[in-house]
Amino acid sequence: MVIALKEDLRRELLGKRLSVSHEEVCALSLLVGQRFVATEEFADAERMALYCGFKNEVLTDHIFSEAKRQGKTLYYPRVDTEGLTFHRVDSLKELSPGSHDIPEPSTQNHSMPPEELHCIVIPGVAFDIRGARLGYGKGYYDRTLKDTGARKVALAFDFQVVDFIPLQSWDVRVDCIVTEKRIIRV
Ligand code: ADP
Ligand code: MG
Repeated sequence: MVIALKEDLRRELLGKRLSVSHEEVCALSLLVGQRFVATEEFADAERMALYCGFKNEVLTDHIFSEAKRQGKTLYYPRVDTEGLTFHRVDSLKELSPGSHDIPEPSTQNHSMPPEELHCIVIPGVAFDIRGARLGYGKGYYDRTLKDTGARKVALAFDFQVVDFIPLQSWDVRVDCIVTEKRIIRV
């Protein structure tokens, strides 16, 4: 039941996200990025995990540049069999297409356990205002973030915030959702 409901929501929201033009994705992503870099979650994070925007996810270029400018250390995820591992990235040139074609750092890049990150920036398919998150359905973030004390910040276009996403026992909620229109603190 719940799984079917999640699957329907995933299909609907992924469809909506894919229908947004590239220009719109760039323009809205800049607004999301500007909003996020003005938060205390960003200011307080010395070691921060980002992600590389893929398939019309919110793009993180502005956040990357601003974080580098402020001397923060950045980490990007790699898909592992179990979940995600985070590796230090100093230049976006260090990313190359890996699992599912998503640009990833190499295993040679120094890795950092999620417990030692201050803030983890997370993409998603949809969120609700309780911080429930719908991903691609593989549970990678759920597995990886279940024990971390890092602040979990989701980036989303405002249409990705929906009324209700069913939570299952393993689902990890995010602490904050930043969209082009608002910041939702859970
Ligand atoms: P997503 O979060 O990507 O939307 P789901 O929450 O539907 O995906 O989870 C997908 C699968 O991942 C589920 O079958 C679930 O059993 C598995 N999963 C999630 N978290 C864990 C975990 N901590 N340990 C083992 N399996 C997990
Ligand atoms: Mg989940």
